[in-house]
Amino acid sequence: MEVPTISGLASPQDTLGKFYLTTAIDYVNSRPHLGTAYEKITADVIARYQRLAGEDTHFLMGNDEHSLNVYKKALEEKLDPLAYCDRMEEEFRNVWRRLDISFDDFIRTTEERHRIGVTTLLDRIRAAGDIYQGVYEGGYCVSCEAFKQEKDLVDGKCPLHNVEPKWIKEKNHFFRLSKYRQALLEHYERNPEALVPEVRRNEILRVIEDRLDDISISRESQKWGIPVSFDPNSVVYVWFDALINYISAVGFGQDDALFRRWWPADLHVIGKDITRFHCIIWPAMLMSGGLPLPKRVFGHGFVYFKGEKMSKSLGTVVDPLDAADRFGPDPLRLYLVREISYGQDGDFSWERFETRYNADLANNLGNLLSRITAMAQKYREGVLTGSRGPAGRLAEVATQAARDYRKSMEVFALQDGAAAAFHLIDATNEFITETAPWALAKDPSQEDKLSGVLFESAEALRVAALLLYPVMPGSCLEILKRLGTTKPARELRLDVDATWGSAGKLTTQKGDPLWPRLEASAGAPA
Ligand SMILES: [Zn+2]
Repeated sequence: MEVPTISGLASPQDTLGKFYLTTAIDYVNSRPHLGTAYEKITADVIARYQRLAGEDTHFLMGNDEHSLNVYKKALEEKLDPLAYCDRMEEEFRNVWRRLDISFDDFIRTTEERHRIGVTTLLDRIRAAGDIYQGVYEGGYCVSCEAFKQEKDLVDGKCPLHNVEPKWIKEKNHFFRLSKYRQALLEHYERNPEALVPEVRRNEILRVIEDRLDDISISRESQKWGIPVSFDPNSVVYVWFDALINYISAVGFGQDDALFRRWWPADLHVIGKDITRFHCIIWPAMLMSGGLPLPKRVFGHGFVYFKGEKMSKSLGTVVDPLDAADRFGPDPLRLYLVREISYGQDGDFSWERFETRYNADLANNLGNLLSRITAMAQKYREGVLTGSRGPAGRLAEVATQAARDYRKSMEVFALQDGAAAAFHLIDATNEFITETAPWALAKDPSQEDKLSGVLFESAEALRVAALLLYPVMPGSCLEILKRLGTTKPARELRLDVDATWGSAGKLTTQKGDPLWPRLEASAGAPA
């Protein structure tokens, strides 16, 4: 059999200056929980960072509606499936709005643009000779929406859902996945960064090296889904349908200019449990359709609640809105970035959340902002200008922090990026303690020194707030505003605005504390 090659891969120059990132699209049979929110929040941090770095950024999210679980849920609620999905779209959008997620586009798989994309790609794959009819006999886990072979089961059960898969025998259409085994191995060989972190790539390579079977890509006699154009009695298998959202959202099959503008994606952010779909099936589908492959897939870890995977039945679901309602979105966003090394699993607990809130926000960043704006008001009527002469030592710390930050954020080490900003915040707090402006203010011969200390502190805080903006957008804009920066968020640029002294004179203003200290643990919300 002829081994397909990967043609049409864009060279990096082709797409310089744009960044197209996506998250997984979600089944709408329940509201988003913290695990879902974790993915969208971290993707949003990356999107906001890319915009800050000057990349023309396109951030796509969406809902996966053609799932049997969605269909069943709609029937349970005695709703037409589409009407149910309409309602859930509102719920999802509301959660994302309250968590300050800045997506540029939101796709639903019931949209016409998506149907066109799916049909176009499926026809191309068929034209390539990669579709044939066969009979699928085996398990199907409805919770996974996945065909399960004997080798995928533990004690006859789906290990993810601990249920016996439904036994089905259907006349289905198959995709020649096996044909792409060698091409996939070569792809990961040539592009080791195509799947990160490395541990995820190694898992996938082992699966591909082991063996690849052809997969069923349609379901017979089902109504809820996109009809197979050459067999109207079947619908497209929900995963095959869902993956195509990444191209149907940017014009595939309809708007070639738009499609060329954004595709290939620069980054797919997904959970570590769905790398097989994204890193084996998806690239093989694209190869078969003659399309370039996504440049990178990032498989993030899970957020556990006190060590347990979040599960509705076990009562270990954290509603992200509980945290957002009590504290606004930013403390939660900061927690998830600071506490979890991106790519690994992490934990959420209310105790730990409150500890971090007090340590990072109330006592550290919030306190620093209050001190600086209060002293600026008291000693300089709010207006700070640098003293003549060489920049002080904080200038160097800030420049280094911005450098460390960029280096980390470019490789999605979000935790290290935030840590670089907090390093600058810590250094600024220490600087104020050591230089004691309140003592300088009592000595008329120290006027110049006092001006320098106040300006340096405020300028360092301004740079730190800019670096933290992708993690805590609302709060950091407020800090920047209190330090005299009035640019709209979309005009902020790292290479200009994170440069020391670039703001010139700082016209500061006082305000209410952003994060009042939390007294003895209030525990989980009732
Ligand atoms: Zn399952």
